[in-house]
Amino acid sequence: MSLEELYRQVILDHYRNPRRSGSIEQADAHAEGHNPLCGDEVTIEVMIDDGVIVDAAVRGRGCSISQASASMMADAIVDKSLESVATLTRQVKSMLDIEDGNPGLDPERPGSVLGDLEALAGVKQFPVRIKCADLPWTTLEEALATTD
Ligand code: ZN
Repeated sequence: MSLEELYRQVILDHYRNPRRSGSIEQADAHAEGHNPLCGDEVTIEVMIDDGVIVDAAVRGRGCSISQASASMMADAIVDKSLESVATLTRQVKSMLDIEDGNPGLDPERPGSVLGDLEALAGVKQFPVRIKCADLPWTTLEEALATTD
């Protein structure tokens, strides 16, 4: 199986079986994001205890890239400190080449630290999709920015 196929399967799996889908009754932070270019919507809720994200829930609708990215994100941020989540967010954004001057991670490089999230690197070939993949991460940043 090619890496591209593998990425496509990872994205489809998260799209069809979204992780941590739903809502949290007493969320400490939440935000809603929209990507008007594609019509994607994502709502993110997190519970934070002592600087650690202890629970996360996402719901939304839109294309497979946006919803898979939200699912991967929700999966990746639970049990992580706010600091490591900020680092992870930067890593994902640089992988997507959103931050100027950063070459991003090499999608051909095996065994990278980002795991499933690496699958999102495939969207770089489709610039219009970058905003789809980025939407949950930007929404997460907005949610976390409300916490202090
Ligand atoms: Zn989209």
